[in-house]
Amino acid sequence: MLQGKLALVTGSTSGIGLGIARALAAQGGGIVLNSFTDRDEDHALAADMAKEFGVKVVFEAADLTRPAEIESLARRCEAHGGVDVLVNNAGTQHTAPVDQFPVERWDAIIAINLSSAFHTIRAALPIMRKAGWGRIINVASTHGLVASGEKTAYVAAKHGVVGLTKAVAIECADTGVTCNAICPGWVLTPLVQKQIDARAAAAGIAPEEAKKRLIGEKQPQLQFTSPEQLGAFAVFLCSPAASNMQGAQLVSDGGWTAQ
Ligand code: NAD
Repeated sequence: MLQGKLALVTGSTSGIGLGIARALAAQGGGIVLNSFTDRDEDHALAADMAKEFGVKVVFEAADLTRPAEIESLARRCEAHGGVDVLVNNAGTQHTAPVDQFPVERWDAIIAINLSSAFHTIRAALPIMRKAGWGRIINVASTHGLVASGEKTAYVAAKHGVVGLTKAVAIECADTGVTCNAICPGWVLTPLVQKQIDARAAAAGIAPEEAKKRLIGEKQPQLQFTSPEQLGAFAVFLCSPAASNMQGAQLVSDGGWTAQ
């Protein structure tokens, strides 16, 4: 379905971003993987994926806290053939009560989880408009729809991503470009494993018990959403079946936000 198209997936060396990149590659799309790191293993990951799926896969480093690096990333994507699909996935987390929240962590979370999506969209949209087709997929969260304590920066950023998605969707209407958000509940990735380990240490319990408690608090279905399931969401959003979806939030959260 995506043959001849190129997808930029930010923050795609692990977790959800990697799951989405793999699902898009399986549809024949070329992939630009990204992270702020620039390790041999990042480039090896791209080479392995290219071999596995028989598509072009390159790794391009860019620290998404820096608008100039995002601009340069967009230009490098253009040189690889354009940006047909943009997946704004990079994200980070920090938990602390609001009055003890480190200012630099607030700034970093807003920059990576929210502002980077503004900068990538700003750079990619003219390329998509020119092509007459494009898919912008923003990875928000259940925390873009509801809140939890001790996550002020993350909740503010993710609500911002949902708002940005709606506003861009309206601007894109009738251009062949769509903009939608994916809102996962818990997904067992390095971002969440850090929270499980911190909870286990704080409560003096085993990580397995901390994992059960974490999911039990929020998700009645008691199952983590998988990166593969979110990859399937991204494929759906690129398909003709989703061509009339604009500004939507696709939720996969085991009933979290149904309560
Ligand atoms: P992860 O830690 O596995 O991956 C995060 C990715 O972002 C990594 O590739 C990392 O290199 C990249 N990244 C971090 N800082 C960056 C920077 N400054 N510049 C460029 N790249 C940077 O996390 P994940 O759980 O896969 O999260 C991916 C997205 O999904 C995030 O936006 C997160 O908020 C969202 N999300 C995660 C969950 C979950 O339960 N894991 C739930 C809902 C939403």
